[in-house]
Amino acid sequence: MLSVTFLGTSAARPTVERNVSALALVREGETLLFECGEGTQRQMMRYGVSFALSDIFFTHFHADHFLGVIGLIRTLGLQGREEPMRLYGPRGAKKLLGQAMQLGVERVPFPIEIQEVKPGDTVEGRGRGKGEEYDIDVFATDHGGGSVGYAIREHERLGRFDPEKARVAGIPEGPLWGKLQRGEAVVLPDGRKVVPEGIVGEKRKGRSVVFTGDTRPSAAVVDAAKGADLLIHEATFGEEEKDRAKETGHSTAREAAQVALAANAKRLVLSHVSARYSISAEELVKEAREVFKETVVAKDGMEIDIPFAD
Ligand SMILES: [Zn+2]
Ligand SMILES: [Zn+2]
Repeated sequence: MLSVTFLGTSAARPTVERNVSALALVREGETLLFECGEGTQRQMMRYGVSFALSDIFFTHFHADHFLGVIGLIRTLGLQGREEPMRLYGPRGAKKLLGQAMQLGVERVPFPIEIQEVKPGDTVEGRGRGKGEEYDIDVFATDHGGGSVGYAIREHERLGRFDPEKARVAGIPEGPLWGKLQRGEAVVLPDGRKVVPEGIVGEKRKGRSVVFTGDTRPSAAVVDAAKGADLLIHEATFGEEEKDRAKETGHSTAREAAQVALAANAKRLVLSHVSARYSISAEELVKEAREVFKETVVAKDGMEIDIPFAD
């Protein structure tokens, strides 16, 4: 299972309908948090996101993307947490998050590791198989201050095993089937050698989710989002404020759609919308869909499943 839950979808400040940025990604029971705007812990409770998480990823350090980590860490401490927490962010993360960790508590009762990341890095060793299941690639975004985005990419899966063909080939059910599926040739009890081709299909693509954080439309984002199952792109403004989007380092809904189209992404979700679209963001959806049909705009509490394509 792979799904994302939007915990905050408002740009810059919260509104009655929307909190500031945060996104939970759940994969096979593991929860990852991307951004942690003020009030995120309450949104987690509200929308049923587990507090048993070990990793928070930050795209940049504007206040609406990270202030919530102070309260969340404090709550985790009160809950008696002992497991380490890892925080990832671009240049400056160590200093800023280090300071944030000291605010309002005497001592955080569990270890906190802060890791600075830069475009081109891959955060590995994650997931149940510790690095065998997926990677998180860090890419550059265009928002100033070394801002980055994150691409979660599952590794290829084994090809589909055809039990009928295996039986016809006279391969006894059992460990030999497993070997074949893992792509190894096997020797049968009668001495015959059987290769997986013809019994096991092609390796199947893993899924990918790409999260931009705040950014102007950018070629680096297009590259990172190539063929993504889900692209989560900021769309702070509509077309009528496209100059303002440019001045402030943000994107319009249409620009986000152009990125999705250029990247040949499967689906686009717009988030980080300006307060003026807090109640209705239909205008943004309309402008984006003229360019890229598979677009929705996020709202707080929205959950999206990402199924396998095959
Ligand atoms: Zn922002
Ligand atoms: Zn920002």
